[in-house]
Amino acid sequence: MDWRLLALGRMRRSRSCLVALTAPVALLWHLWMPEGSPLAFFFESKEDPVERTKRLLKETDAVFFDVDSTVVTTEGIDLIGKCFGIMKEISELTHKAMNGNVKFQDAMAERLQLMADHGMTKEKLEKCVKTEGVPKWSPGIKEVVQMLHKQGTDVYLVSGGFQNMIKPIALELHIPQKMIYANEILFDEQGNYAGFDRKAPTSASGGKPKVLRLMKRRKGYKKMIMIGDGATDLDARLEGPAKAFIGYGGVSVREKVKKNADWFITSFQEVLDVLPKGTDL
Ligand SMILES: [Mg+2]
Repeated sequence: MDWRLLALGRMRRSRSCLVALTAPVALLWHLWMPEGSPLAFFFESKEDPVERTKRLLKETDAVFFDVDSTVVTTEGIDLIGKCFGIMKEISELTHKAMNGNVKFQDAMAERLQLMADHGMTKEKLEKCVKTEGVPKWSPGIKEVVQMLHKQGTDVYLVSGGFQNMIKPIALELHIPQKMIYANEILFDEQGNYAGFDRKAPTSASGGKPKVLRLMKRRKGYKKMIMIGDGATDLDARLEGPAKAFIGYGGVSVREKVKKNADWFITSFQEVLDVLPKGTDL
């Protein structure tokens, strides 16, 4: 027999063997597609971002909500300012901080000091939380959180605002206290203002991506979603491990957020329409 024909036959046989061996492996890989694998990235990048986010909503293991102007229609720090007669000044400083190059922690220190100068003590702040801290809910938010809980998703509140304004909100949403990541105002033994907890991840710029990275490490979450109205919320997706970002424009619309969100909504009804109905669970 011609040695060339023999060699060709062998080559063909080994090629079929290779195909027979690799095809099932490729098929399994395609079906399973581990998180972050190049193949998963290829398939996900082909999907429409809105449809992808809607799909992820049903598969997500943890959703992180911003609070001010997202879960509620108000800004907590402005409400505290109102109690001490300086709502307008605080609002202006907040606006300046959001649009300027001021460090988050410096802007917060400035506003809190201003409130302390206008009489904020521990006791007066507690009174303020009782009068101004009654949550003004964004329509549909309670139902969204309830449905996420029902489908077994962990729900977190992540805010650059303050624990004492957020606790009553979390309580009504049945979100445990350990699932709140926010800032804490400190007082000395006499109840006078003594700064804020600078160890809290949300007390500095880049706080939200930091919280998500922390929770991914601690809990091993694979499909985290961030929902919020601000650029710092968007950062959880652009600079953090969130798989999708839903921009909420029901209170205020920010162009950067609208442009970069995977899905931009103006009503939580849009999320409710995607989640399984109560009877399906
Ligand atoms: Mg907000």
